[in-house]
Amino acid sequence: MSDERKTALRWPLGLLERQPPAPGPDSSLAAHHSSLIDTFGRRHNNLRVSVTDRCNLRCTYCMPEDVTFRDKSELLTFEEITAFVRVAATLGVNKVRLTGGEPLMRKELHKLVRLIAAVPGIMDIGVTTNGILLAEQAQSLFDAGLRRMNVSLDTLDPGRFRELTRRDGVERVIAGLDAAKRAGFAPIKVNAVAIRGFAEYDVVPLARYCRDNGFELRFIEYMPIGADLWEREKVFFASEILALIGREVSELMPANTDPSAPALEYAYRDGSGTVGVIASVSRPFCSSCNRIRLTADGKLRNCLFALDETDVKELLRGSSINEEAIKGALRQSVWAKWEGHEINAATFVKPDRTMHAIGG
Ligand code: SAM
Ligand code: SF4
Repeated sequence: MSDERKTALRWPLGLLERQPPAPGPDSSLAAHHSSLIDTFGRRHNNLRVSVTDRCNLRCTYCMPEDVTFRDKSELLTFEEITAFVRVAATLGVNKVRLTGGEPLMRKELHKLVRLIAAVPGIMDIGVTTNGILLAEQAQSLFDAGLRRMNVSLDTLDPGRFRELTRRDGVERVIAGLDAAKRAGFAPIKVNAVAIRGFAEYDVVPLARYCRDNGFELRFIEYMPIGADLWEREKVFFASEILALIGREVSELMPANTDPSAPALEYAYRDGSGTVGVIASVSRPFCSSCNRIRLTADGKLRNCLFALDETDVKELLRGSSINEEAIKGALRQSVWAKWEGHEINAATFVKPDRTMHAIGG
């Protein structure tokens, strides 16, 4: 598809030409300049950093079986990532999540955690991992200052795990979760993608397993961002998940939630735990989105589904980093953010990058 068509489909007329306001005597403009606010008034404080596009699994909903990974020289170094975080923090970013690909495949990830934890203004660091290498790394990550851990696990059944991830290893993920618990991580969230044909079998065992182990379970509706052909019919909806758990595990009630958080939280009435649902398809949270993304190869993206990205690698590479240019790129990218992802619209265009190369 031509660039013009992509733009015509996805961008409100004229938005591309508009620039973020320059600072001036008007205090609201000054506020705009010192924080990352878009044209819909959304303030962006949440940065997701992909540290690699490599992965030791091949989840069908995320990436193709045969994939060429980027050369290491194309990836941002830990120092470059930290420099970017430092600049972003001056514009109000205070939450960072490390992801990938599989972040634990990046050698000595704990060193990056330590560097980011020391950046002034960063209050919260998390990692999203498939858990395969977690048993070996949980303690070093904890010692580096990491406390929040999201582990992706769609099924406890070895056969369905192999079908979904094209690899073996469910027992390693479970060992990783045990190690994270022993190391002292809290909260530990278990993320599961809800795909029709799988979720019907896995929702209840996963809910019981998480409740028994004190893990916060969160289901993510299957989104059109992987290599597989996505169809709306393949989405197992949040409402179906909640009904199934309420019926088969224990009664749920809505719990207080942060309105900017993507997950709708529910608690078991008997106080035995919580379940979250990220209803990206049936109830998009775009209106309160506060996220920006940095890919492993140094591209800034204002949405998971963005069709355009800004290269910041060159601004970070070399003897001295161009701080003002990075701030400009961040402001410009956030200012150009569209209202929502349009998954449900006929005009939806799937990005060229699949999930593993963006950073989920
Ligand atoms: N490899 C790590 C993992 O799996 O946790 C981190 C990267 S992965 C891309 C981040 C999250 O994206 C995972 O929880 C994964 O299940 C989710 N994900 C990948 N493809 C998805 C899709 N098509 N729809 C919904 N979630 C997806
Ligand atoms: Fe790898 Fe995570 Fe994608 Fe699965 S979802 S292929 S574990 S990056």
